[in-house]
Amino acid sequence: MEIISHAYIFLGSDEDTTQRAIDLAKKVNCENMDLAPCGFCKTCRKIQNKTHPDVAEIYPDGVSVKIEQIRKLILSLAEKPTEGPKKIYILHEAHTMTPQAQNALLKTLEDPIAESIVILLSNNLKKLIPTVISRCQIQDFSEFDVKPILSADIRRKIVDILYQNTQKSEFTGFSEYVKELSDVDENAEEILEFILSMYRDILLAKTNSSAAFINKDLKPEILKYVSISTVDSILRALDLVYKQLKAVKSRGNKNLIWYNLLIGLKEV
Ligand SMILES: [Zn+2]
Repeated sequence: MEIISHAYIFLGSDEDTTQRAIDLAKKVNCENMDLAPCGFCKTCRKIQNKTHPDVAEIYPDGVSVKIEQIRKLILSLAEKPTEGPKKIYILHEAHTMTPQAQNALLKTLEDPIAESIVILLSNNLKKLIPTVISRCQIQDFSEFDVKPILSADIRRKIVDILYQNTQKSEFTGFSEYVKELSDVDENAEEILEFILSMYRDILLAKTNSSAAFINKDLKPEILKYVSISTVDSILRALDLVYKQLKAVKSRGNKNLIWYNLLIGLKEV
């Protein structure tokens, strides 16, 4: 039996994630628990038709979700559900929340109410504050090619270089790691794409997400990172790798890219 979290981030297009959120709302409120979500009970149908009183959808007011909207949500959270066991709040384009709105929501996420589930829909994790992200379970429904490009041996070698580099105090062996990384006989773009997918996996593991790893075969190596990283440092690492990927695409100097990457990852 899957454990239901009190807060989620569903990553992907608004259309896809909305349906996933509706499905979750049905699943926890369905009248036929053995079949949940059955899709045909009165509750399931009301939720699908968006007429269920315990399922609320919040959209940005203009360009952002404002603190007043989050305050209203928090007030409503304190009330018991009227029909089913759980109240569901679906927050569209959650990344448009103002910093004040995110901070207000954070307090609620830290002190969850058993009868409610908050689902943040977003396609841009980078605009959410790390403390909000770390309180939610991330489910990634975005569409991308989930097959690793590089061979397992190569990927393992890269993870090993990165791990050694971040674990060593000061700059012991630093230039050696830069050399080892530039000696990996693969396209720099593909190496960086892999490193991005690796940090994405680390983030999923860190937030106890049940979403599938891209690098399933590297799970032991990825779990090693989980204990030495914070959500904040993982997001900074993702940002850093992404910057180097952009530099590669604009034909930057390869050695400089590996140097910047490794020095940056030591500091995240
Ligand atoms: Zn049902």
